[in-house]
Amino acid sequence: MKPVDRVELFKRFRAANPTPTTELEYATPFELLAAVLLSAQATDKGVNIATRRLFPVANTPARILALGVEGLEAHIRTIGLYRSKAKHLIEACRILVDEHGGEVPRDRASLERLPGVGRKTANVVLNTAFGEPTMAVDTHIFRVSNRLGLARGKTPLAVEEGLLKAVPAEFLQDAHHWLILHGRYVCKALKPECWRCPMSDLCRYTPKTPAPGTQAAKPKAKAKAASKPAPRRAAKPATKPATKPATTPARRRRRDVQPES
Ligand code: SF4
Repeated sequence: MKPVDRVELFKRFRAANPTPTTELEYATPFELLAAVLLSAQATDKGVNIATRRLFPVANTPARILALGVEGLEAHIRTIGLYRSKAKHLIEACRILVDEHGGEVPRDRASLERLPGVGRKTANVVLNTAFGEPTMAVDTHIFRVSNRLGLARGKTPLAVEEGLLKAVPAEFLQDAHHWLILHGRYVCKALKPECWRCPMSDLCRYTPKTPAPGTQAAKPKAKAKAASKPAPRRAAKPATKPATKPATTPARRRRRDVQPES
């Protein structure tokens, strides 16, 4: 994507949503860390339902440690993989209390040492809790960046590095949330809603998804054509029936890049 188009892309994102943020509910860096840790393979909505129960009871590392694994599980059992997430969160809280005075560290290496916290979670915390211009590449950002042609890559890390170079500096802080929300609500995985996408003219993805109803019109047109009488043909000599040409062009199929792992 050309530099001028990248600027235009993010101007449009900003005009539509000047202050984008996470849909996870949190009030402190620790609540955000806990919510992101719990959100792996779960929806933000589901995590919010659980943390509305949990945080009024325990919203610091010391208080969650005091709950113990079973006490924590009781509050988060509506979230997928809650048993392993409870173990990770308890161990993370132990490290936060023992090594960081109960505070969330502001550096990547310390964050990534916490059980259940990988590069993506560390990037979310650094960006959203501490205002660092990091890029947390989840499945939505990975897909949208590749489709748009903004930053192409076969792994989340390659896309993250591409985005850090491609996104103009003035938009870097908020780019992560704009791209996630765009992927979640417009540029969906199975069928991107290109017909209502404000970025359609800048996007490299083809073929674009037509508006509902447009697709339904095509078979009708064909059906109408098919209902016309066939033109009269000259009689063919009695030879072998025609077969499909050996060189039928291969149908081009739309494919997204998938992460390797
Ligand atoms: S035009 Fe379609 S593929 Fe491109 S960003 Fe918009 S929704 Fe996604």
